[in-house]
Amino acid sequence: MVSVSFPYDAPVSQTLFDRAAIVTPGGVNSPVRAFRAVGGTPRFMVSGSGPYLTDADGREYVDLVCSWGPMILGHAHPEVVGAVQAAVARGTSFGTPGEGEVALAEEIVARVAPVEQVRLVSSGTEATMSAIRLARGFTGRAKVVKFAGCYHGHVDALLAAAGSGLATFALPDTPGVTGAQAGDTIVLPYNDLDAVRAAFAAHPGEIACVITEASPGNMGVVPPLPGFNQGLKDLCAADGALFVSDEVMTGFRTSRAGWFGVDGVVPDLMTFGKVMGGGFPAAAFGGRADVMAHLAPAGPVYQAGTLSGNPVATAAGLAQLRLLDDAAYAAVDAVSREIRELVAGALAKEGVAHRVQTASNMFSVFFTADEVRNYDEARKQEAFRFNAFFHSMLADGVYLPPSAFESWFVSTAHDERAVERIAAALPAAARAAAEATA
Ligand SMILES: *Cc1c(COP(=O)(O)O)cnc(C)c1O
Repeated sequence: MVSVSFPYDAPVSQTLFDRAAIVTPGGVNSPVRAFRAVGGTPRFMVSGSGPYLTDADGREYVDLVCSWGPMILGHAHPEVVGAVQAAVARGTSFGTPGEGEVALAEEIVARVAPVEQVRLVSSGTEATMSAIRLARGFTGRAKVVKFAGCYHGHVDALLAAAGSGLATFALPDTPGVTGAQAGDTIVLPYNDLDAVRAAFAAHPGEIACVITEASPGNMGVVPPLPGFNQGLKDLCAADGALFVSDEVMTGFRTSRAGWFGVDGVVPDLMTFGKVMGGGFPAAAFGGRADVMAHLAPAGPVYQAGTLSGNPVATAAGLAQLRLLDDAAYAAVDAVSREIRELVAGALAKEGVAHRVQTASNMFSVFFTADEVRNYDEARKQEAFRFNAFFHSMLADGVYLPPSAFESWFVSTAHDERAVERIAAALPAAARAAAEATA
């Protein structure tokens, strides 16, 4: 178990958490928020401004989660808030087409060259679920290849991430997903093209698509090795399968055009969420026009949503994307580098084995000396050191993702004052990590 003390109580958050636990399973609406990996009381936040969050006990934190990525301009950016207020005043949902969703789709198509057409949805889960259905409908094939440690939302067929064995058919990861739902999913080790080659050789003409995080951030940051994404694309093309790049996390974050803007590998289908919603539920999938033409009402593959293209969500997303110019990405990249160097310096000073892995401005800290290239290697880190590190940072007013297997996120709002507060918290946290025991 976690051998850290919690130096810093949070009585109002604790009271809210107790209330929540009565009416909501585990007291949260998304599991990682519950602090189960690190222990302690989750902080209930009441407001956010720029790089800061304020909790129900009135304590302010430098936020290095940024709502798991979306808040790339910081919290309550005045122009995004203004666009939302204007949209709300015009009415919140019409159940008809509207100009905002056209403008957001045009912005996505203009930024990400492989996206010729796009369909808006309300969550990343919906985007990947729909992309998989479309890939199966388009190819007339059933099987899907995914990689251990890659998260694609809580899609039944994609929660089969358990085994890391070579080309084993996955058993479901969770009760409630049947063998039939997971039985067409093949889970392979990440960054292993030989395993993908073997899967295509074992199932020629049966694989509808390979889905991968464009650059994984859900096992900590584990970027693709040089040539991996291109290799996936080529193996898919050779067999007539589709290459689906999940950019829900990386899209519009790792560059103007997401990870595609970094490695240039052209997927058949892509999925987006997080940043493109500006803090609202907006997500999307898109890609080749001939594939997208199979989607209802243009084609036979059904997909729909009462709130898809919601006018408030699209206004928020569009306002955020329009502010994300080259200067904004340069600013996020620069502050990311600065924080990474501070963290690495503090850990090195205490002699803590660590690796900071990056994917443009996304990064995470693994408590291991070795390079992490896949999920098995990620799990070899000394996560107990992270837990001690996390609680020390929290006590000193820095909010990190409450798990050693998550990316950290920064924003254009992380200024010198925010960085100084992180720097001030690091020495004690590094010491706590050094002294932690399993
Ligand atoms: C967050 C995430 C999802 C799921 O998105 P939700 O909006 O939480 O449903 C899917 N894929 C990736 C890569 C993600 O990071």
